[in-house]
Amino acid sequence: MTIEVTQENLIKRLGPGRHLIVTDANVEAYYGKRFPGMDRFVIAPGEVSKSIETYERLIAYMQEKGMTRGDYLIALGGGVVGDLTGFAASTYMRGVPYINIPTTLLAMVDSSVGGKTGINMGNAKNAIGSFYNPTDIWLDVGFLETLPKREFASGMAEIIKYAIGFDPEMIQQIQAMDWPFDEMKNNREHIEALIIKSIAIKEKVVEDDFRDSGNRQKLNFGHTLGHAIEAYYGFKTYTHGEAVAIGMAYQLKQANQLGRLSDSAYETCMALFNKFNLPVDLRVPDHICGVAWHVAKDKKRKATHIHTIQLEKLGQLQIIPVDFTVFIDNLGCDLK
Ligand code: ADP
Ligand code: ZN
Repeated sequence: MTIEVTQENLIKRLGPGRHLIVTDANVEAYYGKRFPGMDRFVIAPGEVSKSIETYERLIAYMQEKGMTRGDYLIALGGGVVGDLTGFAASTYMRGVPYINIPTTLLAMVDSSVGGKTGINMGNAKNAIGSFYNPTDIWLDVGFLETLPKREFASGMAEIIKYAIGFDPEMIQQIQAMDWPFDEMKNNREHIEALIIKSIAIKEKVVEDDFRDSGNRQKLNFGHTLGHAIEAYYGFKTYTHGEAVAIGMAYQLKQANQLGRLSDSAYETCMALFNKFNLPVDLRVPDHICGVAWHVAKDKKRKATHIHTIQLEKLGQLQIIPVDFTVFIDNLGCDLK
Protein backbone atom coordinates (compact mmCIF):
# COMPACT_ATOMS: atom_id res chain seq x y z
CA MET A 1 0.00 0.00 0.00
CA THR A 2 2.82 2.43 0.73
CA ILE A 3 5.65 3.11 -1.65
CA GLU A 4 8.96 4.90 -1.32
CA VAL A 5 8.83 7.96 -3.51
CA THR A 6 12.05 8.23 -5.48
CA GLN A 7 13.01 9.39 -8.94
CA GLU A 8 13.81 5.81 -9.83
CA ASN A 9 10.35 4.55 -8.88
CA LEU A 10 8.68 7.38 -10.75
CA ILE A 11 10.59 6.72 -13.94
CA LYS A 12 9.86 3.02 -13.62
CA ARG A 13 6.15 3.79 -13.40
CA LEU A 14 5.91 6.57 -15.99
CA GLY A 15 8.36 5.57 -18.68
CA PRO A 16 9.97 8.21 -20.86
CA GLY A 17 8.13 11.48 -21.49
CA ARG A 18 7.91 15.17 -20.67
CA HIS A 19 6.67 14.61 -17.13
CA LEU A 20 6.44 17.49 -14.71
CA ILE A 21 6.51 17.53 -10.92
CA VAL A 22 4.41 20.29 -9.35
CA THR A 23 5.44 21.11 -5.79
CA ASP A 24 5.73 24.04 -3.38
CA ALA A 25 8.86 25.79 -2.16
CA ASN A 26 8.86 24.09 1.27
CA VAL A 27 8.52 20.60 -0.12
CA GLU A 28 11.07 21.42 -2.80
CA ALA A 29 13.55 22.52 -0.14
CA TYR A 30 13.17 19.25 1.76
CA TYR A 31 12.73 16.76 -1.05
CA GLY A 32 13.82 18.38 -4.32
CA LYS A 33 17.15 16.59 -4.22
CA ARG A 34 15.40 13.24 -4.44
CA PHE A 35 14.51 14.06 -8.04
CA PRO A 36 17.71 15.46 -9.52
CA GLY A 37 16.85 14.77 -13.15
CA MET A 38 13.19 15.67 -13.17
CA ASP A 39 11.60 18.92 -14.23
CA ARG A 40 9.75 20.80 -11.51
CA PHE A 41 7.26 23.64 -11.34
CA VAL A 42 7.57 25.19 -7.88
CA ILE A 43 4.77 27.30 -6.45
CA ALA A 44 4.64 29.51 -3.35
CA PRO A 45 3.38 27.60 -0.28
CA GLY A 46 -0.13 28.25 0.93
CA GLU A 47 -3.66 28.83 -0.25
CA VAL A 48 -2.65 31.91 -2.31
CA SER A 49 -1.32 29.55 -4.94
CA LYS A 50 -4.72 28.03 -5.62
CA SER A 51 -5.32 30.94 -7.98
CA ILE A 52 -6.15 31.50 -11.61
CA GLU A 53 -2.82 33.24 -11.98
CA THR A 54 -0.76 30.27 -10.77
CA TYR A 55 -2.95 27.96 -12.84
CA GLU A 56 -2.29 30.08 -15.92
CA ARG A 57 1.47 30.06 -15.32
CA LEU A 58 1.42 26.30 -14.87
CA ILE A 59 -0.52 25.73 -18.09
CA ALA A 60 1.80 28.13 -19.94
CA TYR A 61 4.77 26.18 -18.65
CA MET A 62 3.26 22.87 -19.77
CA GLN A 63 2.69 24.33 -23.22
CA GLU A 64 6.18 25.70 -23.44
CA LYS A 65 7.52 22.33 -22.46
CA GLY A 66 5.46 20.71 -25.19
CA MET A 67 3.59 18.31 -22.91
CA THR A 68 1.04 16.14 -24.68
CA ARG A 69 -1.61 13.72 -23.53
CA GLY A 70 0.76 10.88 -22.74
CA ASP A 71 2.83 12.97 -20.34
CA TYR A 72 2.21 13.00 -16.60
CA LEU A 73 1.81 15.69 -14.02
CA ILE A 74 3.00 14.65 -10.58
CA ALA A 75 1.52 16.45 -7.58
CA LEU A 76 4.10 16.41 -4.79
CA GLY A 77 2.77 18.33 -1.79
CA GLY A 78 -0.22 19.04 0.41
CA GLY A 79 -3.80 19.82 -0.51
CA VAL A 80 -2.90 23.06 -2.26
CA VAL A 81 -0.51 21.37 -4.68
CA GLY A 82 -2.88 18.43 -5.15
CA ASP A 83 -5.93 20.57 -5.94
CA LEU A 84 -4.10 22.84 -8.37
CA THR A 85 -2.25 20.02 -10.11
CA GLY A 86 -5.37 17.87 -10.41
CA PHE A 87 -7.25 20.77 -11.94
CA ALA A 88 -4.47 21.55 -14.41
CA ALA A 89 -4.29 17.85 -15.31
CA SER A 90 -8.04 17.65 -15.87
CA THR A 91 -8.14 20.67 -18.17
CA TYR A 92 -4.85 20.75 -20.09
CA MET A 93 -5.63 19.42 -23.58
CA ARG A 94 -8.90 18.09 -22.11
CA GLY A 95 -7.01 15.92 -19.68
CA VAL A 96 -3.58 14.46 -19.04
CA PRO A 97 -2.85 11.78 -16.45
CA TYR A 98 -1.51 12.70 -13.05
CA ILE A 99 -0.09 10.99 -10.01
CA ASN A 100 -0.91 12.31 -6.57
CA ILE A 101 1.83 12.12 -3.95
CA PRO A 102 0.43 13.76 -0.81
CA THR A 103 3.08 14.98 1.64
CA THR A 104 0.78 16.26 4.40
CA LEU A 105 -1.22 14.04 6.71
CA LEU A 106 -4.41 15.91 5.81
CA ALA A 107 -3.90 15.35 2.09
CA MET A 108 -3.09 11.68 2.65
CA VAL A 109 -6.34 11.13 4.51
CA ASP A 110 -8.64 13.62 2.88
CA SER A 111 -7.89 14.11 -0.76
CA SER A 112 -7.25 10.53 -1.77
CA VAL A 113 -10.88 9.56 -2.38
CA GLY A 114 -13.45 11.48 -4.36
CA GLY A 115 -11.29 13.07 -7.05
CA LYS A 116 -12.05 16.70 -6.24
CA THR A 117 -9.76 19.27 -7.83
CA GLY A 118 -9.98 23.03 -7.90
CA ILE A 119 -8.74 26.56 -7.51
CA ASN A 120 -10.19 29.57 -5.69
CA MET A 121 -11.78 32.71 -7.02
CA GLY A 122 -11.17 35.48 -4.53
CA ASN A 123 -12.58 34.27 -1.23
CA ALA A 124 -14.67 31.57 -2.88
CA LYS A 125 -12.87 28.32 -2.19
CA ASN A 126 -12.78 25.80 -5.04
CA ALA A 127 -15.05 28.04 -7.10
CA ILE A 128 -13.53 26.53 -10.23
CA GLY A 129 -12.86 22.83 -10.33
CA SER A 130 -13.64 19.36 -11.55
CA PHE A 131 -13.95 15.75 -10.52
CA TYR A 132 -10.88 14.03 -11.85
CA ASN A 133 -9.07 11.02 -10.43
CA PRO A 134 -5.31 10.58 -10.40
CA THR A 135 -4.07 7.41 -12.08
CA ASP A 136 -2.16 6.60 -8.87
CA ILE A 137 -1.93 7.83 -5.32
CA TRP A 138 1.38 7.08 -3.67
CA LEU A 139 1.52 7.07 0.09
CA ASP A 140 4.89 7.52 1.75
CA VAL A 141 4.49 8.39 5.43
CA GLY A 142 8.21 9.19 5.57
CA PHE A 143 7.31 12.68 4.31
CA LEU A 144 5.55 13.36 7.60
CA GLU A 145 8.82 13.55 9.54
CA THR A 146 9.40 17.09 8.29
CA LEU A 147 5.79 18.24 8.46
CA PRO A 148 5.34 21.10 10.96
CA LYS A 149 3.61 19.88 14.14
CA ARG A 150 0.63 22.14 13.61
CA GLU A 151 0.04 20.72 10.12
CA PHE A 152 0.38 17.19 11.46
CA ALA A 153 -2.21 17.93 14.15
CA SER A 154 -4.54 19.32 11.49
CA GLY A 155 -4.48 15.95 9.73
CA MET A 156 -5.00 14.18 13.06
CA ALA A 157 -8.29 16.06 13.49
CA GLU A 158 -9.69 14.25 10.44
CA ILE A 159 -8.33 10.93 11.69
CA ILE A 160 -9.98 11.56 15.07
CA LYS A 161 -13.23 12.20 13.18
CA TYR A 162 -13.01 8.74 11.60
CA ALA A 163 -12.04 7.14 14.91
CA ILE A 164 -14.78 8.55 17.11
CA GLY A 165 -17.45 8.65 14.40
CA PHE A 166 -16.87 5.35 12.62
CA ASP A 167 -14.29 3.02 14.12
CA PRO A 168 -13.57 3.22 17.86
CA GLU A 169 -10.77 0.65 17.53
CA MET A 170 -8.75 3.41 15.96
CA ILE A 171 -8.92 5.32 19.24
CA GLN A 172 -6.45 3.01 21.01
CA GLN A 173 -4.10 3.37 18.09
CA ILE A 174 -4.21 7.15 18.37
CA GLN A 175 -3.69 6.93 22.12
CA ALA A 176 -0.63 4.73 21.53
CA MET A 177 1.10 7.26 19.26
CA ASP A 178 4.15 9.15 20.52
CA TRP A 179 3.50 12.84 20.38
CA PRO A 180 5.24 15.09 19.62
CA PHE A 181 7.80 13.08 17.65
CA ASP A 182 10.87 13.91 15.62
CA GLU A 183 11.42 10.56 14.03
CA MET A 184 8.81 8.10 12.88
CA LYS A 185 10.18 5.09 14.78
CA ASN A 186 7.30 3.11 16.27
CA ASN A 187 4.83 5.75 15.14
CA ARG A 188 5.15 4.66 11.54
CA GLU A 189 3.10 1.54 12.05
CA HIS A 190 0.28 3.35 13.86
CA ILE A 191 0.16 6.22 11.40
CA GLU A 192 0.12 3.96 8.35
CA ALA A 193 -2.67 1.89 9.83
CA LEU A 194 -4.68 4.99 10.77
CA ILE A 195 -4.36 6.49 7.30
CA ILE A 196 -5.34 3.26 5.60
CA LYS A 197 -8.34 2.79 7.90
CA SER A 198 -9.48 6.37 7.39
CA ILE A 199 -9.33 6.04 3.60
CA ALA A 200 -11.17 2.72 3.77
CA ILE A 201 -13.97 4.26 5.84
CA LYS A 202 -14.33 7.16 3.43
CA GLU A 203 -14.39 4.80 0.44
CA LYS A 204 -17.00 2.59 2.02
CA VAL A 205 -19.27 5.42 3.08
CA VAL A 206 -19.09 7.05 -0.35
CA GLU A 207 -19.82 3.70 -1.99
CA ASP A 208 -22.76 2.90 0.34
CA ASP A 209 -24.16 6.28 -0.43
CA PHE A 210 -24.93 5.24 -3.99
CA ARG A 211 -27.53 2.87 -2.60
CA ASP A 212 -28.74 4.36 0.61
CA SER A 213 -28.53 8.12 0.50
CA GLY A 214 -27.63 10.18 3.51
CA ASN A 215 -24.71 8.36 5.05
CA ARG A 216 -22.21 10.46 3.21
CA GLN A 217 -23.25 13.45 5.23
CA LYS A 218 -21.73 11.78 8.28
CA LEU A 219 -18.30 12.43 6.80
CA ASN A 220 -19.10 16.07 7.39
CA PHE A 221 -19.08 15.67 11.18
CA GLY A 222 -17.70 18.94 12.56
CA HIS A 223 -17.53 20.49 9.11
CA THR A 224 -20.63 22.70 9.03
CA LEU A 225 -19.23 24.81 11.84
CA GLY A 226 -15.65 24.05 10.76
CA HIS A 227 -16.07 25.50 7.27
CA ALA A 228 -17.88 28.53 8.68
CA ILE A 229 -15.04 29.10 11.17
CA GLU A 230 -12.45 28.98 8.41
CA ALA A 231 -14.42 31.39 6.26
CA TYR A 232 -15.31 33.75 9.11
CA TYR A 233 -11.61 34.31 9.77
CA GLY A 234 -10.71 34.57 6.09
CA PHE A 235 -8.90 31.20 6.09
CA LYS A 236 -6.03 32.68 8.09
CA THR A 237 -6.54 32.01 11.78
CA TYR A 238 -7.23 28.29 11.94
CA THR A 239 -6.04 25.36 9.85
CA HIS A 240 -8.75 23.15 8.36
CA GLY A 241 -8.21 20.50 11.02
CA GLU A 242 -8.30 23.02 13.87
CA ALA A 243 -11.58 24.46 12.61
CA VAL A 244 -13.08 20.99 12.25
CA ALA A 245 -11.88 20.05 15.75
CA ILE A 246 -13.70 23.09 17.16
CA GLY A 247 -16.78 22.16 15.11
CA MET A 248 -16.76 18.60 16.46
CA ALA A 249 -16.14 19.81 20.01
CA TYR A 250 -19.21 22.07 19.87
CA GLN A 251 -21.41 19.20 18.69
CA LEU A 252 -19.97 16.88 21.32
CA LYS A 253 -20.48 19.37 24.10
CA GLN A 254 -24.10 19.94 23.07
CA ALA A 255 -24.81 16.22 22.78
CA ASN A 256 -23.29 15.68 26.21
CA GLN A 257 -25.23 18.53 27.80
CA LEU A 258 -28.48 17.28 26.28
CA GLY A 259 -27.77 13.87 27.79
CA ARG A 260 -27.35 12.20 24.40
CA LEU A 261 -23.68 11.40 24.81
CA SER A 262 -22.12 9.83 27.90
CA ASP A 263 -19.55 11.68 29.97
CA SER A 264 -16.95 9.00 29.39
CA ALA A 265 -17.34 9.13 25.59
CA TYR A 266 -17.20 12.91 25.72
CA GLU A 267 -14.03 12.87 27.79
CA THR A 268 -12.38 10.29 25.54
CA CYS A 269 -12.94 12.60 22.57
CA MET A 270 -11.65 15.69 24.36
CA ALA A 271 -8.50 13.84 25.44
CA LEU A 272 -7.78 13.01 21.79
CA PHE A 273 -8.02 16.67 20.75
CA ASN A 274 -5.88 17.70 23.73
CA LYS A 275 -3.20 15.20 22.90
CA PHE A 276 -2.46 17.04 19.65
CA ASN A 277 -3.07 20.52 21.06
CA LEU A 278 -6.11 20.86 18.84
CA PRO A 279 -8.42 23.68 19.93
CA VAL A 280 -11.86 22.80 21.28
CA ASP A 281 -13.16 26.35 21.35
CA LEU A 282 -12.58 29.64 19.56
CA ARG A 283 -9.89 31.86 20.98
CA VAL A 284 -12.63 34.47 21.27
CA PRO A 285 -15.61 32.29 22.23
CA ASP A 286 -18.12 35.11 21.57
CA HIS A 287 -17.27 34.97 17.89
CA ILE A 288 -19.29 31.79 17.62
CA CYS A 289 -22.41 33.87 16.93
CA GLY A 290 -20.76 35.55 13.95
CA VAL A 291 -19.73 32.10 12.79
CA ALA A 292 -23.28 30.80 13.21
CA TRP A 293 -24.58 33.56 10.97
CA HIS A 294 -21.96 32.64 8.44
CA VAL A 295 -23.56 29.20 8.25
CA ALA A 296 -26.83 30.83 7.26
CA LYS A 297 -25.24 33.07 4.68
CA ASP A 298 -23.08 30.28 3.34
CA LYS A 299 -25.98 28.00 2.58
CA LYS A 300 -28.10 30.80 1.11
CA ARG A 301 -30.70 28.67 2.67
CA LYS A 302 -34.18 28.32 1.39
CA ALA A 303 -34.77 25.67 4.02
CA THR A 304 -35.54 26.61 7.59
CA HIS A 305 -33.58 23.76 9.13
CA ILE A 306 -30.07 22.43 8.99
CA HIS A 307 -28.70 18.91 9.23
CA THR A 308 -26.46 18.60 12.24
CA ILE A 309 -24.36 15.53 12.77
CA GLN A 310 -24.11 14.30 16.32
CA LEU A 311 -22.30 11.52 18.08
CA GLU A 312 -24.63 9.17 19.96
CA LYS A 313 -21.90 6.90 21.19
CA LEU A 314 -18.37 6.17 20.05
CA GLY A 315 -18.56 4.88 16.47
CA GLN A 316 -22.13 5.99 15.90
CA LEU A 317 -23.14 9.26 14.27
CA GLN A 318 -26.68 10.49 13.75
CA ILE A 319 -27.95 13.03 11.27
CA ILE A 320 -30.41 15.28 13.08
CA PRO A 321 -32.36 17.98 11.25
CA VAL A 322 -32.56 21.01 13.51
CA ASP A 323 -34.59 24.14 12.97
CA PHE A 324 -32.23 26.98 12.21
CA THR A 325 -33.51 29.05 15.12
CA VAL A 326 -32.76 26.12 17.44
CA PHE A 327 -29.30 25.74 15.94
CA ILE A 328 -28.53 29.39 16.71
CA ASP A 329 -30.09 29.12 20.14
CA ASN A 330 -28.11 25.97 21.02
CA LEU A 331 -24.93 27.92 20.38
CA GLY A 332 -26.08 30.45 22.95
CA CYS A 333 -26.67 33.15 20.35
CA ASP A 334 -29.52 35.57 19.80
CA LEU A 335 -31.74 35.55 16.78
CA LYS A 336 -31.27 39.07 15.61
P1 ADP B 1 -3.03 20.87 3.35
O1 ADP B 1 -2.59 19.55 2.86
O2 ADP B 1 -3.23 20.92 4.81
O3 ADP B 1 -4.18 21.43 2.56
P2 ADP B 1 -0.91 22.70 2.30
O4 ADP B 1 -0.79 22.17 0.96
O5 ADP B 1 -1.28 24.13 2.45
O6 ADP B 1 -1.89 21.90 3.22
O7 ADP B 1 0.43 22.43 3.11
C1 ADP B 1 0.59 22.88 4.43
C2 ADP B 1 1.99 23.39 4.67
O8 ADP B 1 2.89 22.29 4.86
C3 ADP B 1 2.57 24.19 3.51
O9 ADP B 1 3.30 25.27 4.04
C4 ADP B 1 3.51 23.20 2.83
O10 ADP B 1 4.56 23.86 2.17
C5 ADP B 1 4.02 22.40 3.99
N1 ADP B 1 4.42 21.01 3.69
C6 ADP B 1 3.74 20.12 2.93
N2 ADP B 1 4.32 18.90 3.01
C7 ADP B 1 5.39 19.04 3.82
C8 ADP B 1 6.38 18.12 4.30
N3 ADP B 1 6.33 16.82 4.01
N4 ADP B 1 7.34 18.60 5.11
C9 ADP B 1 7.35 19.92 5.46
N5 ADP B 1 6.44 20.82 5.08
C10 ADP B 1 5.46 20.39 4.25
ZN1 ZN C 1 -12.15 18.00 6.23
